[in-house]
Amino acid sequence: MSNNPPGLTKNLILTAGPCIDYKEVNYAADAALNGWNHQHSDYIRDFEALFKNYIGVDHGFATSSCTGALHLALLAKGIGPGDEVIVPETSWIATAAAVVYTGATPIFCDIEADSWVMDSSKLEKHISPRTKAIIPVHLYGQPVVMEPIWDLAKKHNLFILEDAAPSIGSLYKGKKTGNLGHAAAFSFQGAKAVVTGEGGFLVTNDEELKNRAYFINDHGRDPSRTLYNIEIGYKYKMSNIQAALGLAQMQKAEQIVEQKRQIFSWYQDRLGDIDELSLNIERPETRNIFWMSSLVLGDQIKFERDEFITELKKRMIDSRPMFHPMSGFPMFDSADNPVAYSIPMRGINLPSGHARTEEEIDYVCAHIRDLLGKDIGKCAKLQPQGCLAFRDEVESKLANMKADTKLQIKIPQGHLSPVTAQSLSKEEDISVLAKWRKAAQDAFPAQFEVTEEGTKRWLENAVLKTADRILFWVHNDTGVKIGHVGLFRFDLSQKFCELDNIVRGETGSPWIMQEACQALIDLCQGELKQEDVYLRVFSNNPKALKLYENLGMKEIQRSPLRKIEENGVIKWVDVIKAPYEEIERYFITYKLDRDVTE
Ligand SMILES: *Cc1c(COP(=O)(O)O)cnc(C)c1O
Repeated sequence: MSNNPPGLTKNLILTAGPCIDYKEVNYAADAALNGWNHQHSDYIRDFEALFKNYIGVDHGFATSSCTGALHLALLAKGIGPGDEVIVPETSWIATAAAVVYTGATPIFCDIEADSWVMDSSKLEKHISPRTKAIIPVHLYGQPVVMEPIWDLAKKHNLFILEDAAPSIGSLYKGKKTGNLGHAAAFSFQGAKAVVTGEGGFLVTNDEELKNRAYFINDHGRDPSRTLYNIEIGYKYKMSNIQAALGLAQMQKAEQIVEQKRQIFSWYQDRLGDIDELSLNIERPETRNIFWMSSLVLGDQIKFERDEFITELKKRMIDSRPMFHPMSGFPMFDSADNPVAYSIPMRGINLPSGHARTEEEIDYVCAHIRDLLGKDIGKCAKLQPQGCLAFRDEVESKLANMKADTKLQIKIPQGHLSPVTAQSLSKEEDISVLAKWRKAAQDAFPAQFEVTEEGTKRWLENAVLKTADRILFWVHNDTGVKIGHVGLFRFDLSQKFCELDNIVRGETGSPWIMQEACQALIDLCQGELKQEDVYLRVFSNNPKALKLYENLGMKEIQRSPLRKIEENGVIKWVDVIKAPYEEIERYFITYKLDRDVTE
C-alpha cells in the first residue's frame, strides 16, 4: 500500500468532453456534402424522431440551445410581463434568463442539501396569484422530487417546464426526464453528455403547445402562405449538420449514459469512505446520469472551495465550482435560500468527460485523498500514470526492456529505434523522411505537405507532440535506415492499439518491413499487454494488403474515400453517402486475428 500520490501528469485532466467517433464525423461530413436542397433536413428529421422516441414523448423539435427551447416553451404558454415563474436557486443562469426574456420574474426556491436539486417541499411558500409556472431542474442528472410539484400545479393551474438540460437518460420512477411535466428542454451544448456543438430540444405531449412553439420559432410565419409573417417570432433552429452529429450521438445514448455512471462509480469507490465529503446521490426509484460527478467539502475540511480548486489545478486536475446562487447575481434581489447559499459554495464538479479513464479517476482520487490527508492506498491499485503519460510509460517500458540497447528492438534482419526530437534538427533525417513520404504519397492520407518543411511539421506536431504515437526507424542489418513503422492510438485501459505509418523507403531487404511490424505486434501483445491490434490501409495497395494478411490481419471494416486536392496536397476524405459517385478506393481497417498468432 502506497501513501504517496502518483507523480504529476503532463496534461490537465479536464472536467468535460464528449464521446465522438468516426460515425459522428462521417454523418457530419455527409450532411456537409449532401445535406442541401431536397436533403436539407434529413438528419434533422431522423434526429428528432430518434430523440423523441428515446425520451418517450409525442411531440417536439430540435433547437439551437436549451435556453432557446425554454424561452419558446414559456412564450408558447403565453407567459410574460407580470407573471412569476419559480426556478431553483442553483442552476445555470439559462433557467432564469429564459424567464426574464419573456418579461416575467423568476422566483428562486432553495435546494436540497444532499441532492442539490430544487427542494420541492419548499415550493408552496413561493406561490402567489402571479405564479404561472415552475421550472424544476434535474441538476447534474438527478431528477427533482416531482409529487409536490404535480400537486401544486394541479391546485394552482401551473405550467411545469422541466429544465432537463443535463439529464438526458435520467429516470424518475421508470419515466425518462422530459416526461415529468407539461414540456421540457434539453441541451446538446459541447460540455453536456450528448453533444451537437450547440443545440437543444423542446419536447411535450401537448400538440397545441408544440405547434404554437414551432410557429413562434418560425418567425411567426403563416404556415398556409409563402414568406408571409403574421407575428414577430424568434429563430432558435438547429442546423442539419448539427443534427447529423446528434443522430450519431443518440444512436449510442445508452452507452453515453452508462459511461457517465461508470465514471461516477469510480469516484464513489475511491472517495465514498470519506465522511467529510459528500458526492452526488441517486435517490431510490431514480436513475441519475451523473452528468457531472461532484463533491461538496464538509465544514471540517480546512480548504475553502476555490483554494481546493487551485490545489487540484496545481496537480493537473481541472474542476469547476458548483453554480453560484442566481439571486446573488447583480441582476436580481438576493433571496433567502440558505442551503443554496452554503452547499454549492463548497461544491465542485470533478473531471467527468467521456474520455476519462479509470486510471485518470484513480489519479484524481489519489490526489484528492492526499490533499485531505487521507491514505491513498485504496487508489493505488491501478497504474496511476496509465494513459496520461502514455508515451513516457511506453518509453520507460521499452527502456527497461532494452536498457542495454538504448530502446532498440532487435529484428532478424536489423533493428528498430525510436525517432526522437533530435531528428528535427538533423537535415539528413528530415530529407530521408520527406523522400519516403513523397514516394509513398498515394498510400496514406497526408495532412501535411509532402515537402521537407511539411515533413518537419508532421514530425513535430503529428508524431512527437502526439502522446499516443511513437515512430520507429527501421534499420537494416548494416544499420542503414530503410523505412519507418509506428504505433498509434494506444489505450492501455481498453487494451488496443494501431500499427501506423508503415512506410518502406529503400528496397533490397524483402522481409524486413514484415519483421518490423511483427516486432511491434509482439511488443504490443507482450510487454504492453494490448489485446487488440489494428491498422488501417488504403484498398488500392495490394502489396501492403498482402503484407498485413501475412501478419495475421483480417479486414473488419471499410469506408469509401473521396479524393480532394488542396494546395497541391492530395487528401482522401471519408464519405458515407455519395450514391452517384464512383468509389475509387476504400480505407480498410484490419484487426489482428488472434487465432492465427496464438
Ligand atoms: C447547460 C444547461 C443549460 C443551457 O443549455 P444551452 O443549450 O447552453 O442553452 C440550461 N440549464 C441547465 C441546468 C444546464 O446545465
